[in-house]
Amino acid sequence: MDYFSDHISKLIGELSKLPGIGPKSAGRLAFHIIDMPEAEVEELSKALIDAKKNIRYCKSCYTITDDEECPICKSSKRDHSVIMVVENTRDLAAYEKTGKYNGVYHVLHGAISPMLGIGPSDIKLKELVERLKGDIKEVIVATNSSLEGETTAMYISKLIKPAGIKVSRIASGVPVGGDLECIDEVTLLRALEGRVEI
Ligand code: ZN
Repeated sequence: MDYFSDHISKLIGELSKLPGIGPKSAGRLAFHIIDMPEAEVEELSKALIDAKKNIRYCKSCYTITDDEECPICKSSKRDHSVIMVVENTRDLAAYEKTGKYNGVYHVLHGAISPMLGIGPSDIKLKELVERLKGDIKEVIVATNSSLEGETTAMYISKLIKPAGIKVSRIASGVPVGGDLECIDEVTLLRALEGRVEI
């Protein structure tokens, strides 16, 4: 790519590090950005930096939020005795979109993957166990149905069961390896309603 200016090459290089952006798309985006009015480019870069600097984890469920505690954890209308465990904030958003789940969440920020060297201590499991000291009736494990998601579900079940808390797993209406956020709301609801104790 040395027939481009170094600045463009650098921009393309950075953009192509993003998920789902190959060199071709990165090139298209880079040239689009160059053609944008300077004020818009400034807005875009400011939004990137502001998001990174100001976003933090909810002190209870570890979802990404602007405040110390997220709106779901703060709400008195939610059932705080039911915790749904998800891999990431996008999965939480997918369940919230159904509007039918009234419990709270716990965001792991990943799943156990021996292949990638991600162990139980690399995700927010300790924090989950800490929350179980409260008055908890049920933990619904809604990790993906990938190998990593299933491994994590089994680990959580073994971890929590001895405490006498009900642990359930969402039904297998969710396609294997499927990202929860790509699944339609009806399928998600069916998976939630058809959950089984593990
Ligand atoms: Zn929260």
